[in-house]
Amino acid sequence: MSETLFSKIIERQIPADIVYEDDDCLCFKDVNPKAPVHYLLIPKKPIERLVDAKSEDQTLLGHMLMKASEIVSDAGFGDAFRLVINNGPGAGQSVFHLHIHILAGRTMGWPPG
Ligand code: AMP
Repeated sequence: MSETLFSKIIERQIPADIVYEDDDCLCFKDVNPKAPVHYLLIPKKPIERLVDAKSEDQTLLGHMLMKASEIVSDAGFGDAFRLVINNGPGAGQSVFHLHIHILAGRTMGWPPG
């Protein structure tokens, strides 16, 4: 997988406002927030899209979901938040390193655009 913006953030080659990190994932503020809380949670392992995840990534993906819930709850929004994964350009993915958008702090419309 080629270098992406997010692998450069993991390597600290470009700055980010990091809110959480462990051995397997990193969470930082989205530079162009779509909600009062808009974080991106990424695996340190370079997986391009959700569809590229393998069965061996099951534990990692479960860990990320649990962490997303924990991070947004710690930020005070455990009762109302939305997680989004855009998979592929047709769904709006622009950075090809898997990421979970964590959105909170405003009313969420449905269906999403
Ligand atoms: P997606 O369109 O689902 O691939 O989401 C990519 C997200 O990355 C967008 O919401 C961008 O605002 C965000 N983004 C792009 N560059 C940076 C950066 N350097 N730091 C933080 N977020 C970024």
